Amino acid sequence: MRKVIYIEKDIKDLPRTKYILKKFKNPIIILIDRYSEVFNKKNQNFRLQKINPAIILAKKYKNFILETPKSYTIGKKNNYYFSYMYNCLFDCRYCFLQGMYNSSNFVIFINYEDFFKEISFLKKKNIGKNTTIFSGYDCDSLAYDNITNFSNSVLKYFENFNDIELEIRTKSTYLKPFYRRSLKNIVLAFSFTPERFSTKYELGVASLKKRVDALKKVVNFGWNIGIRFDPFVIYEGWEVDYERLFKILFSTVPREQIHSVTYGNIRYPKKIFNNIKKMYTNEKLFLKFEKNKKNIYDENNGELIDNFCKNYLFTQIDQSKVFCNIHEK
Ligand code: SF4
Repeated sequence: MRKVIYIEKDIKDLPRTKYILKKFKNPIIILIDRYSEVFNKKNQNFRLQKINPAIILAKKYKNFILETPKSYTIGKKNNYYFSYMYNCLFDCRYCFLQGMYNSSNFVIFINYEDFFKEISFLKKKNIGKNTTIFSGYDCDSLAYDNITNFSNSVLKYFENFNDIELEIRTKSTYLKPFYRRSLKNIVLAFSFTPERFSTKYELGVASLKKRVDALKKVVNFGWNIGIRFDPFVIYEGWEVDYERLFKILFSTVPREQIHSVTYGNIRYPKKIFNNIKKMYTNEKLFLKFEKNKKNIYDENNGELIDNFCKNYLFTQIDQSKVFCNIHEK
C-alpha cells in the first residue's frame, strides 16, 4: 500500500522532511497549510485509519513542553513532558490515544530543535537540576524512530543538558541509536505487561523475549533503566504472570542500573473512556470499569495492585526508586 504523506508547505524543503520522505517508496504527497486541516477532524475513523495510517509532517509553534500532573514524578521536583509526535505505530487495546483523537494518522513535528531550545530555558532558569522531562505521552518515543531519527537529535542535545533528566519511554525494540556510550541524564524506560496479556492486547509490540534481548543490549552499554508497569493489568492468573515477569526483568537489569520502577492502574477521564468503549462494545477488558471520583474511570483495583507491587518490589529494590501512579479514590 502506498503511503500518503501530508506536508505543511512551509517545511516541504527542509532537510529533515526530505530525510523522512526518502524512507518511503513512491509515497502519495499532498501539500497542506496546517496539519489541523487533515488531522483529528470529527468524521474520521481511528480504527480504519490504523490499517495504513497517513503521515503528516508538521511544524510546532508553541507549547513545546507542558507540566505533568502534580503527583507524577520519578524522583525530581519539577516534571514536564513533550510529544514530538501524535499517535503510535503499535496498537494497544487500552491505549488512551484512541479515545483522545478521532484520527490515528501520525503527526510528526519535525522541528525537534525547538523542543530542545525550550528545554534549555529550564537550565537557564536554574531549575534544571531538579527536573525530569518525559518524552512519549502522545506517542511511543521510539516506535517510529527508524523513520523519524528523533533519538539521534536527543542524544546530541542532552549531552549538553547534563543536569536535566530525560525519560524516553517505549515498548520498541528499535534501540540501535543507544548502542553507544550512555548518558547519565537519560533514562530509557520500558513498559511491560505479562506476555500472555501483551500478545493479546498490545498488537505490533515484539515478544517478551525479543524485548528482553534488546533491553540486555542497552544495559550492557550502561544506560539508566526505568521499568514501567503502567498500566498494571488484572486478569485471570495475573499474579503468577507478574511474578514471572518481575523475575525476568530484575534478573536482566543490575540493581545499580535501575533508575526507577513505576506502576499504576488503567484509568481514563470520562470522555476518553466513553470514546474507547464505543469502539469495543464487547471487549472484556473494559467491562468492570466504573466511574470514580473526579470523573475518572477505572476498575477500582488500585489497592490490590499497590499491595502486590509493594510486597514484591520493596524486597528487590530500594524503596526510594519505586513510584506509584494509582489514581486516588
Ligand atoms: S505503545 Fe503506548 S502509545 Fe503506543 S499504542 Fe501502546 S499504549 Fe499507545
